[in-house]
Amino acid sequence: MPKRVIFTADALKETYGQAIYGRISALGLPIEIAKNNRITGLRGADERETYRLAKNTLAIVNAPPSAFRLQPIPPSADWQMNLAEGCPAHCQYCYLAGSLSGPPVVRAYANLPKMLEHTATYEGTYPPNRSWQGNESNRPTTFEVSCYTDVLGIEHLTGGLAECIRYFGARPEDSRGHGQLRFVSKYDQVDSLLELPHNGQTRARMSLNTDSIARRLEGGTASVEARLQGLRKLALPKELGGGGYPIGVVIAPIMPIPDWREHYAALLDRIAEVIDFPCDMNAEFISHRFTPGSKNILMSWYPNTSLEMDETQRAEKRNKFGGTKYVYRPEEMKQMKAFFYAEWQKRFPDAPVLYWT
Ligand code: SF4
Repeated sequence: MPKRVIFTADALKETYGQAIYGRISALGLPIEIAKNNRITGLRGADERETYRLAKNTLAIVNAPPSAFRLQPIPPSADWQMNLAEGCPAHCQYCYLAGSLSGPPVVRAYANLPKMLEHTATYEGTYPPNRSWQGNESNRPTTFEVSCYTDVLGIEHLTGGLAECIRYFGARPEDSRGHGQLRFVSKYDQVDSLLELPHNGQTRARMSLNTDSIARRLEGGTASVEARLQGLRKLALPKELGGGGYPIGVVIAPIMPIPDWREHYAALLDRIAEVIDFPCDMNAEFISHRFTPGSKNILMSWYPNTSLEMDETQRAEKRNKFGGTKYVYRPEEMKQMKAFFYAEWQKRFPDAPVLYWT
């Protein structure tokens, strides 16, 4: 629950903004209206205080016009569409550090229905990212909605994920290929999603890791066991009280901690125990990486972190824009990748691995 909720005047002019207003009022949270559409008062005396103030603030705003120009998001999906930016959790490796500018406030978009309608213009288009999606020209175009937030972490406040699931569930299939939604979360409040008419057009994924990594580095999230139980509910057929969703397991960020094989094998065993029925499932494996910029920000947010970000232990990778990121060394990567593919396929022969990165 945020301590502070601010609506911009423009956001309140949107029907969906009004719906969020209704939800927040019903929860009894104090609401401020920013008449000039500016969110202020997020800066504290130092970085720590700014972080604390921002993480406790939910702003309901209209997404700027730039948010309607979708960006490719390889290898996860074709396009990213953000229903919000910012996240209430406290992962010490947070992917948002260095990606979003300014204090890490959660901004949820009141003009989401317009953004959703606009995705129709991207259906049947495929940026150059066909790693796991194949080359056929009429396959569904995939939209990733959780790049810049944890969608379930704010769902009780906004209902935005349900809006998206309903929208994609109602998209007609046509010759150009329709749209499919993908989301991922570290929370387990899935009950409000189970009855939605998703029509198989949303893949619901959970981000998982070893218990030790989750407990040490993923503050404010649901436990790994709770996430797994949430995933089970999402996947169970509707007639058994579940959501009947296609599901996915995202193991991230993978780290070669001491005895990593045992720890990750225990996680895979537990997934097999919990998802013990046939379902449409696949897997994504993402190893830990950081950039000079994200390290700086994370060190200001979590100065005492035990997260390993030692450049001398890593391999340096440059992207086409000249940016640097630090990944594990090739030999280490090779061993981890081979382990995950083999151990996954042994337990889940019918659940394809989409990629390792
Ligand atoms: Fe960052 Fe994702 Fe953790 Fe939220 S759940 S703090 S976005 S890594």
